[in-house]
Amino acid sequence: MKSGSLSVYAGNLVVGDGSVLKDKYLGVSDGVIVEVSDRPLTGYGDEYDYSGKYVMPGLIDAHVHLRYDPHGDPEKRSHEYQAIRGVENAKKSLEIGITSLGEAGGIGNVVFAVRNAINNGVVLGPRLYVSGEMITITGGRTKVPGERKEVNGADSARKVARELLMYHNADFIKLGATGAISSAHTGPRHPQLSVDEMRACVEEAHNCGKMVHGHCYGEKGIGNSLEAGVDVIVHGQSLKDGHIRHMVENKLILMPTLKAFCGHRDNLDKGGVHTRMVDTGIWPETEQNFRRALEAGLTISMGTDGGMPDDHFSNNYLDLKYMVEWGMTPGQAVTAGTLNAAKSLAIENTVGTLEVGKYADLLVLGKNPVEEISSIWTSLEKVILNGVHL
Ligand SMILES: [Zn+2]
Repeated sequence: MKSGSLSVYAGNLVVGDGSVLKDKYLGVSDGVIVEVSDRPLTGYGDEYDYSGKYVMPGLIDAHVHLRYDPHGDPEKRSHEYQAIRGVENAKKSLEIGITSLGEAGGIGNVVFAVRNAINNGVVLGPRLYVSGEMITITGGRTKVPGERKEVNGADSARKVARELLMYHNADFIKLGATGAISSAHTGPRHPQLSVDEMRACVEEAHNCGKMVHGHCYGEKGIGNSLEAGVDVIVHGQSLKDGHIRHMVENKLILMPTLKAFCGHRDNLDKGGVHTRMVDTGIWPETEQNFRRALEAGLTISMGTDGGMPDDHFSNNYLDLKYMVEWGMTPGQAVTAGTLNAAKSLAIENTVGTLEVGKYADLLVLGKNPVEEISSIWTSLEKVILNGVHL
């Protein structure tokens, strides 16, 4: 990935933690913010004047499936083809201001290859943090043997987690704690991985300082995930009060993937996963589940589930729009899409806010996103990645 040096005058600096500071100067050296000052800075190369603008951290969409085709391509595609599609989907996200992505469902080496090609500067793309293949029970996602990391028992789960972490440098671990609406042969609320299997994966990930994301719906699967020490509950319909309390006390994160569910709602006429969401009772719980979590002060992160049918990579920001529609302030939504999403991937020391020591991934907006969340997409003027203007 290319890196740049520059100085930026921000008429308004949206830090990413809810605060907005007036008249700040950022000094960026080799892609990293090394100085934030009240006075003009020189010596960093080109100087950019964004007076009257709002400079905010790049968005982080912490849950996508880059290799999927949101148009529902019915063809069975090769891994190579999926990797090329992944590059394109990553690039589309970057163009609209997603400067970091969490990739939560690879196949083979596909998403590792996309990540490594971006990091090595072979192709342009956002920072990619990838889990590789999801860890699931036998047949938990597909009926095709070997299409996922299928495990049986704690030892086999531990071995697979170690392979992902050690051979592939997986950036986090994704667990299938329950069935899924996208896997029609499963019940979305049916528990899958056992507590022991998940705990083994959690231990291995935490030994490496990596996070564990648990896909789950339903009381039992969420309870199993929390008991095993999972850090991020993905989807999470049927959160009980006890779950919410436990998550708040332990600073755990909810990634409600609202864009996916609201997208399904908007496409019910197409059937498939869209209507299955309603038929399985997941949809009716979605809004009240989110509102209860928000009211309880749970840390909530952006994560779109991009790549699912009709869940495109050109409008990831809608996740934040739905959060605001269901009760978040725009300032909270900005934090969900920046700092909280960084926390969900354990990358908050390098991205997620605009502070000294972090990468210069910036969006320049004409309007204030903390007052009106749609400013992020209606008034986006520039995307800067690693100190380089796109
Ligand atoms: Zn997903």
